[in-house]
Amino acid sequence: MMEFRDLKTQYEKYKEEIDAAIHEVITNAHFIGGKEVAELEQQLADYVGVKHCITCANGTEAMTLVMMAWDIKAGDAVFVPDFTFFSTGEIVSFRGATPVFVDVDRDTFNIDPVKLEQAIVKTLEEGKLTPKVVIPVDLFGLPANHGEIAGIAEKYNLLVLEDGAQGFGGNIKGKRACSFGNAATTSFFPAKPLGCYGDGGAIFTNDGDLAKLLKSLKIHGKGEDKYDNVRVGVNSRLDTIQAAILKVKLKAFIDHELDDVNRAYQLYNERLTGVVETPIIPDGYYSSFAQYTIKLKNKEERDELQAKLKERGIPSMIYYVKPMHEQGAFSDLQFTDDDFAVTNELCDTVLSLPMHPYLSVEEIDKICNVIKA
Ligand SMILES: *Cc1c(COP(=O)(O)O)cnc(C)c1O
Repeated sequence: MMEFRDLKTQYEKYKEEIDAAIHEVITNAHFIGGKEVAELEQQLADYVGVKHCITCANGTEAMTLVMMAWDIKAGDAVFVPDFTFFSTGEIVSFRGATPVFVDVDRDTFNIDPVKLEQAIVKTLEEGKLTPKVVIPVDLFGLPANHGEIAGIAEKYNLLVLEDGAQGFGGNIKGKRACSFGNAATTSFFPAKPLGCYGDGGAIFTNDGDLAKLLKSLKIHGKGEDKYDNVRVGVNSRLDTIQAAILKVKLKAFIDHELDDVNRAYQLYNERLTGVVETPIIPDGYYSSFAQYTIKLKNKEERDELQAKLKERGIPSMIYYVKPMHEQGAFSDLQFTDDDFAVTNELCDTVLSLPMHPYLSVEEIDKICNVIKA
């Protein structure tokens, strides 16, 4: 059976280095913190091109920590794309604030800047909530339209949190994902572009005061040390073993994996252009291809193709089956379904195909032949 994201082949290739890295942590018995975490944070900050990287327990907590640091609370509006993983809206409600969902661009799958501004204006006119933050998501590896979003955020005095959980490795004209906004976050969940062997996450920022506050919040609101507690925080750390694994994987990611997923993208596009709607990467944008997502004509065609692929042993996934505004957890919020025409359509027509750096030409041929047939 073909892998959707082949983590086994990756491990086989880097087995010696990964095993040695894990072994060293266990031998030293430094399971929390230590040099591996500090070195990884420095390497991640250098790669992304920001001053500070703060690792934590997972991508959801990375975003929650930023919401805590910015004191986002009841009465605040946070603008979130309607087409994303649940987490992006969850962390807003978790703080008691209100997520305001915004429809996305049909080509890029990312938050539509025109609709973002409309949603901000509408929220201001209604006067019930105070617009505070926008969270653009770099969906499927493609950076959001951060240029236009920054302009809108400045106009309405909003903070920007880039949700780069799927975006690590992408760039816009060389400026890397996780360097946009006032802060950015990523996830090291195993299937993300840069994944560890469990849960993990990180926050990126150039804001020194924010970095200091986040380092306190992630360790029980520590002051001088973790037994001096100056505020209420959480316990959110990246395990030392995961940091050691990530150091090996970051090197592979930079050395060849990012190029290899982009090569797979080219091979797919060559075979599928004109057959189905293939991913569109705007000029100057570079994707880290967390997913390779095609669009079919309608739900019947999409579901039928997924069944046919399955018959041939080819895994595929539907990201996402349900728009955010339809999730049961948000049922107390008031929405008009018409405001989400694009997301509603995408949920019925998208299909993500196997995508990872170790995908072979033979596998891509096999997948594309089923689609063409
Ligand atoms: C995976 C993901 C998250 C959450 O990351 P975890 O590490 O699983 O908590 C947040 N946002 C998006 C867009 C994601 O894909």
